[in-house]
Amino acid sequence: MTDWVHEALHRDYAQSLRVDEVLYDSETAHQRLRVFTNGTFGRVLTLDDVVQTTEGDNFIYHEMMTHVPILAHGAARRVLIIGGGDGGMAREVLRHASIDHVTMVEIDAGVVDFSKQYLPMLSQGAFDDPRLRLVIDDGAAFLRTTTDRFDVIVVDSTDPIGPGEVLFTDTFYGHAKRALTKDGILVTQNGVPFMQGDELTNTMRAFKALFGDWGCYLATIPTYAGGPMAFGWGTDGQGRAVPLDTLADRFASAGIETGYYTPEVHKAAFALPFYVRRLMP
Ligand code: SAM
Repeated sequence: MTDWVHEALHRDYAQSLRVDEVLYDSETAHQRLRVFTNGTFGRVLTLDDVVQTTEGDNFIYHEMMTHVPILAHGAARRVLIIGGGDGGMAREVLRHASIDHVTMVEIDAGVVDFSKQYLPMLSQGAFDDPRLRLVIDDGAAFLRTTTDRFDVIVVDSTDPIGPGEVLFTDTFYGHAKRALTKDGILVTQNGVPFMQGDELTNTMRAFKALFGDWGCYLATIPTYAGGPMAFGWGTDGQGRAVPLDTLADRFASAGIETGYYTPEVHKAAFALPFYVRRLMP
């Protein structure tokens, strides 16, 4: 009999992924962690039966949450990743030779250990990079007390249930803003607006109160089903207005090979369809 993992994240809509082979299945202190293989997506990581990342399509998510803020900023050297236990976000950040420090705060050491072993194609050695400092802690607790400052903060969280819930609060966003340098940029994963519109509206309401330039941009990731995913964007700098040719120059000098990101896609990602614009406060 064929096995399927059934992800029922939404009340009225679910997706299923065929399981070819289960590679790992265990309860960590925080959540149920599984890895299995699937013919189209390769290795798939689920936490509490919700797809977190896949070998096949993770490049879209990770490239768009890193290269967009880093290249928009133009002089970023210090990056903070909240969550990101699979190492894919650190991998993309560390592709930039100009980044000299990354702090990654992940609540679940189990996700990191296990990703190193079962999903090494996600981190591609990022955990061994001397520029990375890994902190095992709640991202909200870390930001409440840290005196470190960052040019870019990437919130690579789970959905706002369980341990990830605290990463969607106004208090957390306020502390994230305080940890940004002057022209620093905060990006957050905000789910699929067609399915989780409230999640985006709530974050945008907080960003509107905090940042001179706030909004979101979009990218379509097949396993985050239901339409494009939204990424929150907040800054007091001029990162969004950087012209296309400047972005193209920065991208060329970074010498990074990508599968999704291009400077044109970067610019276009900020164009919002009406159903998403209507979710803005
Ligand atoms: N992009 C995926 C998605 O949207 O489905 C999620 C990526 S996964 C790397 C998110 C990570 O956030 C998990 O490893 C989880 O353990 C971590 N996480 C959840 N709540 C957290 C918290 N409060 N502080 C730090 N990390 C947290």
